[in-house]
Amino acid sequence: MTISADHNLKLGRTDIIVRIHENNSLERIPGSVFVNLHDDENISVQATLQVIEERGGRLIELIHPNDVPVDLRERPKINRYIVFRISGDEHYYIADPNRIFTDVGRKNDIYLENYGSNVNARQAVETFSDKLLRDFILEGINTDVIIAVHNNTGLDLSDPSIILKKKDGQTEKNEPQTNLLSNFLLVTNENHYTRFVNQNKYNVGLQDNGLILQNRDSSNYNDGSISVYCGIVNKIPYINVEVCSSYSNALQYQVDMLRSVYTREHN
Ligand SMILES: [Zn+2]
Repeated sequence: MTISADHNLKLGRTDIIVRIHENNSLERIPGSVFVNLHDDENISVQATLQVIEERGGRLIELIHPNDVPVDLRERPKINRYIVFRISGDEHYYIADPNRIFTDVGRKNDIYLENYGSNVNARQAVETFSDKLLRDFILEGINTDVIIAVHNNTGLDLSDPSIILKKKDGQTEKNEPQTNLLSNFLLVTNENHYTRFVNQNKYNVGLQDNGLILQNRDSSNYNDGSISVYCGIVNKIPYINVEVCSSYSNALQYQVDMLRSVYTREHN
C-alpha cells in the first residue's frame, strides 16, 4: 500500500509542500526515485502512483503554494510555476521548479517576473533547490537513478543538446527545431540510451553532457533543469518519462513507459 506524507520546505518565506508517496510493502528497487516538479502535470503523478503501487517505490511530488494573488492566477500555465515571496519584500516572484538547479538556470529564469535578476530571490531559490536535492531527491547519497515524470501540452523536444532516436525510424539528429515529438524518454546515460533504443518501443533522447559542459555559461544549453544538474554537476543517471497530456491514451501510455523503465532486471 502506498502511503503519502507531507513535508514543509520553505522557498524564501513561502511554504512549499514536498509530498512523499511511498510503497514499502514491496521491496523498493534500490536507488531509484521518482520526481514530479510541475504541479499541473497530474497524469504523470497518477501514472507513477499506479506503478509504485504495483512494484514498490517512492515518488517525490512538489505541491506549489496556493497563496497566489488573483492577477497572477490568471496568467497562462501559472500552475507550472512556484509563486513565492522573500523576506523584506512584498513582491511575488515566479520560478519554474525545473530551472532552479544551476546558477545559470536561476539567473535566466525570466518567465513573467525576473527573479533571476534579484540576488536575494536567487539566493532563496538556491537554498530551496539545495535542500530539495539533499534531503529529499538524493536522500543523502542513497539515490542513484532519478526518474522525472512530466506531461507536456504538445511541445516539441528541440533541445540542441539532445541526440534523438525516434521509434520506428533511424533518424538520429541533434539539430534544434526539427524533432516534433511529445512522448519520449530523455536520458543522461549512454547505457540507458542503448537499452531503450534496443527496446525500440519509445522515442529516446540522449542528453549530450559534453556539449552542455562546453556551453555551460549559455542558458540555451544549461537551462537549470534537473537533467542538466544530473548530467554535468552530480553525474547521477537521470531518466525523464514525458507524455503529452492531450495524447489519446496518455495515462496508460505513461504507465507502460514507466513499467519499461522501472524494472528490477536493469537496476
Ligand atoms: Zn514538467
